Amino acid sequence: MPALDTTKKLQDYIELDKQLLWHPYTSMSHPTPHFLVKKAQGCVIELEDGRQLIDGMSSWWSVIHGYSHPYMNEKIQHQLSQFAHVMFGGFTHKPAIELAQKLVAMTPAPLQRVFFSDSGSVSVEVALKMAIQYWHSQGKPKKQFFATPKSGYHGDTFAAMSVCDPENGMHNLFTGALTQQFFVPPPPTGIEQSVSQAYLQEIRELFNEHHHTIAAFIIEPVVQNAGGMRFYNPEYLNHLRALCDEFDILLIFDEIATGFGRTGKTFATEHSQISPDIMCVGKALTGGYMTLAATITNDKVALGISDKGGVFMHGPTFMANPMACAAANASLELLQGYDIEGKIGQLEGWMRTALSPCQALDSVKEVRCFGGIGVVELHEPVNQHLIQPKFVELGVWVRPFGKLIYLMPPYIIEQQQIDTLGKAIYQIASEL
Ligand code: PMP
Repeated sequence: MPALDTTKKLQDYIELDKQLLWHPYTSMSHPTPHFLVKKAQGCVIELEDGRQLIDGMSSWWSVIHGYSHPYMNEKIQHQLSQFAHVMFGGFTHKPAIELAQKLVAMTPAPLQRVFFSDSGSVSVEVALKMAIQYWHSQGKPKKQFFATPKSGYHGDTFAAMSVCDPENGMHNLFTGALTQQFFVPPPPTGIEQSVSQAYLQEIRELFNEHHHTIAAFIIEPVVQNAGGMRFYNPEYLNHLRALCDEFDILLIFDEIATGFGRTGKTFATEHSQISPDIMCVGKALTGGYMTLAATITNDKVALGISDKGGVFMHGPTFMANPMACAAANASLELLQGYDIEGKIGQLEGWMRTALSPCQALDSVKEVRCFGGIGVVELHEPVNQHLIQPKFVELGVWVRPFGKLIYLMPPYIIEQQQIDTLGKAIYQIASEL
């Protein structure tokens, strides 16, 4: 293997990267192009070759306050000067306690017990384990399977994969190795579309037949994200809550993508009138600075597991990492200073204006925006190898997947930057 040499030319680093590194969802023999980043500030990512890109992705929806935020940097540096990490078994620390306090205050009232873990996928594993352990403690050990809508996405670890859409390209390779769960169709799309009683009836029938073995129903509230950027009527959540209660099934909301303002409310759950039994958050929790996630639950589940001498069987090495908690505390403090509805409403309006011209293109099936999410859905899937460098040439960072070219920018982005992103998307979609 070639040794690293800091005098290397930029192209050498790119070559080394190709030889040594896996990137997300890529091949080692036919890697997609990767661009060497030098620094990032606000909504601009600068490459080592000097090119500057306006960020439309918030680094997979996490960097909500932009890059190198002075307040975030200061708080993390302060924590670093105290201690970077201690084990959470036997020790505790102020960053974790303060963060738990903030999360409990922000989330719907019954959610008040917090479990920290390393990533969104792990927080989903934790949620699923909580549900199984809860029913075990209630003398119902057969309730250890999950129901979920198709087109969902909950992460790449095994149990999380088992509740992802069973047919899309991402996970069908592993089907034989995954626990078989119960799937219902995805909620019909359209925030304003009236609720389909036939759809709810289908879920009722599934619950009626299988509630003895179903521990929980897991769903991304209001927006199915990586499974297709599908927006649905929040009313479905109220109905799901009622159905889950009727059939003794726990309700899990995966707010990993939607949490912390992305849909125009602090949590997408707030578009409905109910709260889940368990909620997973991650991504924007630390303002995209570090990896951290939380699984937050109510007393029913937490005390159900713990009463009669039970303990919850999970405990990662880097649980509640103090640096990550300090980042999250800083990010939530910044978020609390925002008028979320106003700010995200404005962002939605800007994206609508910038993306709507795409509607006229032959390659485009639909343009839709909701909160801080703007989507241009194409008729055909894009070729990422070809399209990614074109976006970079136009000075923007947009990373499409499948048939979707979309924006989920940092909340601090300016209208002019959204316009530039919209023009780039228009140009590229018009060449397809
Ligand atoms: N759930 C949802 C809704 C997600 O969007 C994601 C990530 N895209 C995950 C879970 C998994 O999170 P992570 O990548 O941090 O493991």
